[in-house]
Amino acid sequence: MTCVKAQSLITAFINDELEIDELEEFIGHIQSCDECNEELEVYYALLTAMKQLDEDRNLSNDYNQELKGKLELSQERIIHLRYNYYRKKGVLFVIMVLMTAFFSLYHYFIPKEQVNPVEESRFKLRTSFMEKRFDKPTEELEKFLEELE
Ligand SMILES: [Zn+2]
Repeated sequence: MTCVKAQSLITAFINDELEIDELEEFIGHIQSCDECNEELEVYYALLTAMKQLDEDRNLSNDYNQELKGKLELSQERIIHLRYNYYRKKGVLFVIMVLMTAFFSLYHYFIPKEQVNPVEESRFKLRTSFMEKRFDKPTEELEKFLEELE
């Protein structure tokens, strides 16, 4: 961020009108640039005093201290918002991983449709048909057939 840009944002910063990205860049510049920092201090004292007079409130004793508090609060807000942003992304990522895992496992555990080997022989077809009918293991089925005879 250039000094010109930073100084054009001073009023917006004091009125809490900056978007999170702008706010972050603005604070970064203010902390590394003495000239803009001084400019901000002057404007902050001026604008806040005007506002206080306007609202018939007592004037603050220490504008620099107040400004410092405001900068710290803004930084905390940035960290908070960024943290929430990444936390939301993280949750989304975990959900996607879980869903992917679920669907691949789901596919894996679903029993595959059994192919009926019809072409092999009529006998086999008949056996499997009977097996299904009686719903019993082959041994029991054979026993049953023997008893019938
Ligand atoms: Zn600057």
